[in-house]
Amino acid sequence: MSVRQTALQLSAVYFDDGHFTKDLTLAVAIPSESQERQGYKCLQVYLDDCIIPLLSKMGFTCKLFENSVSDAGPFLLAERIENLNMPTILTYGHGDVVLGQHEHWKPGLSPFDLHEEGDRLYGRGTADNKGQHLINLQALASVMEVQGKLGFNFKVLFETGEEIGSPGLKEFCDQHRQALSADVFIASDGPRISPHSPTIFTGSRGGINFDLVVNLRDGAHHSGNFGGLLADPAIILSHAIASITDSRGQLQIPEWRPTSLTQDIRDVLAVLPPIDAGFELDSDWGESSLTMAERVFGWNSFAVLAMKSGHPEAPVNAISGYARATCQLRYVVGTEANDIISALRQHLDNHGLQSVDIIQAEENPFPATRLDIQNPWIAFIAASLERTCGHRADLLPNLGGSLPNVCFADVLGLPTIWIPHSYPGCCQHAPNEHLLKSTARQALLCMTGLFVDISVSGQQIITGSKYSAL
Ligand SMILES: [Zn+2]
Repeated sequence: MSVRQTALQLSAVYFDDGHFTKDLTLAVAIPSESQERQGYKCLQVYLDDCIIPLLSKMGFTCKLFENSVSDAGPFLLAERIENLNMPTILTYGHGDVVLGQHEHWKPGLSPFDLHEEGDRLYGRGTADNKGQHLINLQALASVMEVQGKLGFNFKVLFETGEEIGSPGLKEFCDQHRQALSADVFIASDGPRISPHSPTIFTGSRGGINFDLVVNLRDGAHHSGNFGGLLADPAIILSHAIASITDSRGQLQIPEWRPTSLTQDIRDVLAVLPPIDAGFELDSDWGESSLTMAERVFGWNSFAVLAMKSGHPEAPVNAISGYARATCQLRYVVGTEANDIISALRQHLDNHGLQSVDIIQAEENPFPATRLDIQNPWIAFIAASLERTCGHRADLLPNLGGSLPNVCFADVLGLPTIWIPHSYPGCCQHAPNEHLLKSTARQALLCMTGLFVDISVSGQQIITGSKYSAL
């Protein structure tokens, strides 16, 4: 049996004998909620108890770092350097989870108590991100066990604040550029397009949040006595929103329309399977000239996340003095991020809406990233995944959502490739979060095969010589 087959078999046995479920149970049991102050102690416990032992067993040197942002969780940097002439891979995972939301899970389920039911492993962090990084590290362990070495150098970066916007991650990457240097970044987070086939994405849409505020006067005034005499902030705000898109959500601000939807991106998106969200999508919403995949992966989208004027829960006959909408633009590369707010200001002014203030959210916007679709790592990894599972991998230029990928793509300057192991119906960030066992098993085998293939052919990719087709 070849090394590849032996390693795949080892991973399959690890999974089928229940070891993966057992390891994930221990990981999920640590309530590493980064949004909760009480969860802070658990952030380090998770690294200490679940990640460091696993890496140490494989001969990694592990080092914990305090976060430069006060009150934010620690980082873990681990590495196994076998030979400086061999390729170096950097991976990433986040040990924190969102709030457990105990009271909202289905009867019989509890967020930090892994529960197996049919093909589902329920528990907070099963999909985001504990299950995903455990799959990758276990795949690595199988390769180690079969070969007695990896055949490449491997670096691991863990953060513990992804769910609160990755505080300090960018600074950490900046300060540790040398320690984090690599030839390629490969990590797993987020959903696949379909549970049955692997997905590859190479970046993420960016996101910027801001409030539109119309603050005309203190307090509210009787609508009978003053209706017709006082400007209504909710109406002005509605006009502002209505000027940003048309009635089907098509963007009306020229600077907000990306320039990056080129034919090669369209070709990549054209072969994707339909988006299966588990609920109906509105085909008559968004940019009418684009396909559904182009709208979410190749274009920008504006959303009103929340809005308020007066007291909706107990309205009175009064004209409010104040209205506010919390808004968001998700954007792909090819949008000038620094111009987003100034273009909006100009647009509102042009529409006579000077009384609408724009207040940018305190947290920094997530920049958009995307790897050149011709990068040789993409084709290599896609071929490897297909070889293992027999399905063509779905290739996305970027995820529709946001990830701290800018730290790896821009700060560290690495080609970034994400191979997610979850699926759209996983209830990530909601009650009943789960990982599909069938997907997790396939993912474990795919990652095992990929690491073997990198040990055989990775060198040829970094030296630019044509690697033999797998
Ligand atoms: Zn998350």
